[in-house]
Amino acid sequence: MANNDDHSSKNQHSPNSVFESSATFRMALSQLESVATLLKIDLGILQRLSVPKRAMIVSVPVRMDDGSTQVFNGYRVQHSLTSGPSKGGLRYHHKVDLGEVAALSMWMSWKCGIMNLPFGGAKGGINCDPASLSMGEKERLTRRFTEEVLSIIGPRMDVMAPDMGTDEQTMAWIMDTYSMKVGYACPEIVTGKPIELGGCLGRREATGRGVTVCILEALKELGIKPSNATAVVQGFGNVGAITCNELAINGIKVIAISDRYGAIHDPKGIDIAALQEFVSKGNMLKDFPKASPINPEEMLMLNCTVLVPAALERVIHLENAPHLKCKILAEAANGPTTPEADEIINNSDIYVIPDILCNAGGVTVSYFEWVQDIQQLLWSEEQVNSKLYELMINAFRRVRSLALEKKISMRLAALSLGVEKIAREKIKRGLFP
Ligand code: GLU
Repeated sequence: MANNDDHSSKNQHSPNSVFESSATFRMALSQLESVATLLKIDLGILQRLSVPKRAMIVSVPVRMDDGSTQVFNGYRVQHSLTSGPSKGGLRYHHKVDLGEVAALSMWMSWKCGIMNLPFGGAKGGINCDPASLSMGEKERLTRRFTEEVLSIIGPRMDVMAPDMGTDEQTMAWIMDTYSMKVGYACPEIVTGKPIELGGCLGRREATGRGVTVCILEALKELGIKPSNATAVVQGFGNVGAITCNELAINGIKVIAISDRYGAIHDPKGIDIAALQEFVSKGNMLKDFPKASPINPEEMLMLNCTVLVPAALERVIHLENAPHLKCKILAEAANGPTTPEADEIINNSDIYVIPDILCNAGGVTVSYFEWVQDIQQLLWSEEQVNSKLYELMINAFRRVRSLALEKKISMRLAALSLGVEKIAREKIKRGLFP
């Protein structure tokens, strides 16, 4: 990906240089550039879309349980503030860096654009290994990070949500810290909170449900009955586990699952409920007795109907892309496919459901949560799910028809809808001053 500097070479000021050392950011940029060419986006607008609006790097000192002090790097990047507050998750992962967070914030913008949500994109991250931190350490880390980024967050400015390595409890600490600062309870500062604090029913399941809606729609188009379909899922965190569950509920056999420690396989279908119970007792997924272990990299190349990467970025690459044997690639993770792999897949028969469409259910229900918090209303889970279904199907069909009409890939169609919405808004608002 070192050769995607076309746009930045046109750009005299090269404002992206702080982000471009990241392969993930270069990947996001190259996607934007391909869609900009297709849509013939004005160069000035393209330059503005190529750089995050605001990025903050903070050092987060934390008193550890053993009395020592550890300093973590924290990031919050707001890609766009054009359509409303910026919105996006906060990630705790040992490999988080500024460029990755910036790329993820850009993808959030396109995602909110496709779904027509009144948000720009943002993302945050703290460079830590959450599995090695105690609850107390995580709480102090989260509260101190919130304090450090206080000047750029707010219910009308930037609203965080869970992402990899964070959860409802993390959001509760952010909500409490922010509320203590402003002097009143402010649930609308975060989404993905516990229900007791103004969280939304069905938010935790929303991403996995949205992924499943897309998969079922693609299966329908391909004329494959769910009961004849098999799935391979990479990742068993919130998104991966819920997706497995939803697929199983809809009759799709999940034949292999992996997490960061290993992978399991059973061609007859894995009992998801039993696996969930096994893992919830503190056991490792790879030790699940009712399936056989398999190499996680080989697992991606299993013969299956649907392959669901639901973990990290850039896991489908030049080496494994030619060997994929799935009919549908449902990108539940953000950025799982490198542009080089994308090219290979585009020349195959694989039906791609691109990330910014496939996993948009999460931020969609986050939007429902924010709206309910602001209005002090409570929707039922049925209301949440039916509205989520309506918005996901609608977005899926808009992306699909554009892809067919313009004879472009699903990824390019999804990016076009997301990018074009924000570009249009920027043109209408004009450039200040
Ligand atoms: N972290 C999720 C994502 O990547 C959800 C973001 C949100 O709900 O704001 O889409």
